[in-house]
Amino acid sequence: MSRTPLVVGNWKMNGSLGAVASWAASFRALCEEAAPGCETGLCVPSVYVQPLAALFSGERALPGFGPGAETVSDREEPGAFTGEVSAAMLRDAGACWCIVGHSERRTLFGETDEVVARKVAAAHAAGLRPILCVGETLEEREAGKTRRTVLRQLDAVLGAAGISALAGGAVAYEPLWAIGTGKAAGAEDIKPVHAVIRSALTQADRTIGEGIRILYGGSVKPANAAGILSLPNVDGALVGGASLDAGNFYRICTAR
Ligand code: PEP
Repeated sequence: MSRTPLVVGNWKMNGSLGAVASWAASFRALCEEAAPGCETGLCVPSVYVQPLAALFSGERALPGFGPGAETVSDREEPGAFTGEVSAAMLRDAGACWCIVGHSERRTLFGETDEVVARKVAAAHAAGLRPILCVGETLEEREAGKTRRTVLRQLDAVLGAAGISALAGGAVAYEPLWAIGTGKAAGAEDIKPVHAVIRSALTQADRTIGEGIRILYGGSVKPANAAGILSLPNVDGALVGGASLDAGNFYRICTAR
């Protein structure tokens, strides 16, 4: 089955209103000169979702581009949850995508597989397209536990939220040892894990599982993007540091 590639940026806790405006102007100019030929998205801190979305809405919509958020509350109903931002609020602010279960959320903020599964369900219920992050630590890789870890993280979501919560979304394989290190995983690291993820998705539901895009994330940059994006079962990329610069992000989107 052919899947339209998807490249999504993750700004993490970076940016400002000014940076959002200048990124949007630069990315638009590049895309209007030559369309990137893939779907694109940019996930930003929640306070910047609405300003970003406003720059790409109505007459200013850019085909194939969607704004997004970096995380979401697992609480679906409004209430006394100080500081939380619900999926419905992110939708209201114009988000299309939502990263869920990023390794920084799991390791620094204690998000468990169960919490991640609830967040995917909440995102889907509100009409956001979840990008579920999975990936192993260096210790897990060295102990031969890569497959086990990734399947545990994926199965938690498939079991609790169901594969339909990921339809229209994506799974991002992000080995922790490759995130922000400048050293992307090699083809021989990426290929078997993407194959395992594809197989788990199609076992859950052949049609939905074939359609879900599997992204690679971890030190993707213009220089290594073409090699990574050409691998089997790699349907795009989740890009951290390199997405802060619109030109670099565009070069990754157009890498062939
Ligand atoms: C990420 O934060 O999801 C990521 C992949 O970061 P980087 O591209 O900077 O490694």
